[in-house]
Amino acid sequence: MSTFTAVKNEGSLKSGCEFNIRQIREDFPILNQSCYGKSLVFLDSAASAQKPKSVINAIKYCYEHEYANIHRGVYLLSERATQMYENTRAKVKDFINASEASEVIFTKGTTEAINLVASSYGETALSAGDEVILSRMEHHANIVPWQLIKERVGIEIKIAPIDKNGNFLLHEFEKLISSRTRIVAITHASNVLGTITPVSDIIRLAHAAGAVVLLDGAQAVVHSEVNVQKLDVDFYTFSGHKLYGPTGVGVLYAKKKWLEKLPPYIGGGAMISEVKKEKIIYAPIPEKYEAGTMPTAEVITFNESIKFVESIGMDNLIKHENEITNYALEKLKKINSVKIIGNPKNKAGVIAFTVKGVHPHDIATILDEDGVAIRAGHHCCQIFHKKMNLSATARASIGVYNTKDDIDMLCKAIENCRKIFDLK
Ligand code: PLP
Repeated sequence: MSTFTAVKNEGSLKSGCEFNIRQIREDFPILNQSCYGKSLVFLDSAASAQKPKSVINAIKYCYEHEYANIHRGVYLLSERATQMYENTRAKVKDFINASEASEVIFTKGTTEAINLVASSYGETALSAGDEVILSRMEHHANIVPWQLIKERVGIEIKIAPIDKNGNFLLHEFEKLISSRTRIVAITHASNVLGTITPVSDIIRLAHAAGAVVLLDGAQAVVHSEVNVQKLDVDFYTFSGHKLYGPTGVGVLYAKKKWLEKLPPYIGGGAMISEVKKEKIIYAPIPEKYEAGTMPTAEVITFNESIKFVESIGMDNLIKHENEITNYALEKLKKINSVKIIGNPKNKAGVIAFTVKGVHPHDIATILDEDGVAIRAGHHCCQIFHKKMNLSATARASIGVYNTKDDIDMLCKAIENCRKIFDLK
């Protein structure tokens, strides 16, 4: 169903990558509109990416032709919907190279996936005094669930530091590992600095100390190849909506041994084999973790978003994003009073910045009037912002559809903002 096929670059939009950026942009109908009379420049894909036609068409097609509740009906439509739902599981398995489809659990998103692990693992495998290591860059989705477990179980939370450029400090992390470290829960890519963390080393060090590892892949899954077997990671989480897919669907990958051992997160229909007054027998994995009616049409449609990414090729996607990100960094650096936050060695297409003398919310509001959509605030990373003595930052993030023209518009809008605030 994908409407996109990768072709050689025509160079029309200064992309320089091996794919046709014009054709990609045509695949995203939402981009073809104006805001306040200006062409929309969408630079907020780290919050949620826009959807290609194949995804939009697939959800419509599903509701028109394929939809029924899954796993329960004995009629054709339900069996077909069940098959489509399981096809997506098989697709995700291949996409992240899990060893079995049953290691893929569908959730509402990254947040729910991390809560699942914190709850199921935290309440059974952790006791008072056990330690969880997070990093200074974590999104609240990978902090609050552990704080809830701390309140319930009495665990300790340690924070691995980063340097002033936003690089993860592996040797400092190593020093934090102790005989009480049970789980290391770290972002694979920061949603503020773009830092791609040295996950192979983190996993190696954690495993050597007998700890398990959860990676928050919400940002990284769009910016890097994810191979969970090669990483040997215990838990990997991501959201469909940041991967050009629908909202309401996310993934928890977990090694089979954990899914079989841990208790379910929530209970209800579809996750049981038998319910007696005195005893419940859980369904085998993955159903054990998918209680109630799941976001069926969204999961079915999520298959199309992975196909979309595959049709472009992750290599092309990364190459394009790096090119646009580097162009943006170079141009932003040249604007007086703009400060880019962090300068990590390995970076995804996320750029946090400030403009001296202008509050980030004012920057985002003024840019919006020029049709440029960026984000402002703490980006659910208050611990990081506090450490940097910042209440908020502005953030531009790059998606597959962004061009150098978009970055030129961003910079022009920032110049306009500087004029409004009469900055030198
Ligand atoms: N982790 C990171 C690094 C994120 O950037 C986000 C969302 O921005 C999340 C977790 C939460 O994702 P979701 O809201 O899709 O659950």
